[in-house]
Amino acid sequence: MESMGTVDGPGIRFVAFLQGCPMRCLFCHNPDTWDVKGEHQFDFTPEQLMAEVRKYKNFIRRGGVTCTGGEPLLQAEFVEAFFHLCRAEGLHTALDTAGTIWTEAARRAAAAADLILFDVKTVDDSLHKSYTGVERTHNDRFLHYLQDIGKPVWARHVVVPGITDRDDRLEAVAQYLKQFSVIERVEVLGYHTMGEYKYESLGLPYPLHGVEPLSPERKANAKAIFQAALPNVVVQ
Ligand code: SF4
Repeated sequence: MESMGTVDGPGIRFVAFLQGCPMRCLFCHNPDTWDVKGEHQFDFTPEQLMAEVRKYKNFIRRGGVTCTGGEPLLQAEFVEAFFHLCRAEGLHTALDTAGTIWTEAARRAAAAADLILFDVKTVDDSLHKSYTGVERTHNDRFLHYLQDIGKPVWARHVVVPGITDRDDRLEAVAQYLKQFSVIERVEVLGYHTMGEYKYESLGLPYPLHGVEPLSPERKANAKAIFQAALPNVVVQ
């Protein structure tokens, strides 16, 4: 849990990191969240987590609550129940997901959120599996579902030098996002190496060893590509 998050949705937020992820993104800086039964996890019922949230209610009244991970939709029933509790107390709810879980429960959990922070890893089908560990089918289907139910979306895209930091690939993502009118904002996230130490402590090889963080110039280039394709969307 993080009681004063400022990067996962609007305003100051209570952020809950849910354990478990079926993806294996090469750039992931949270490999400690992959294991559903991570050694530092805490078990909460939705009501118990809500009791934690209430301690910070005065601070997050204009922000809200975010569930992130890992992939929170691995625990979709929990997320749905928790969001209903938050909304009953007037708190804004955001779900950070890559949409890789395509189940009825996952769709209900997304429908229960006020805002989806949707991670688009790549729109290149031939790259998606080697880059993230899973095929792209569900991720794409999930974003179409969010469009169908009219759910506000902030799209997020990590730009990795040598992989997604190519103008043709950035342009392809931007063109893909154009079809979704529910997208209110695009967040361009530059690759960084701050998670590398976690791989070492978990005894895992770091897949992007030697790849430099994204430069400010290339980040500005990526933002310009998205802004040109999506002139009515906030790009940051
Ligand atoms: S979806 Fe998120 S938590 Fe899962 S591997 Fe990718 S970056 Fe890491």
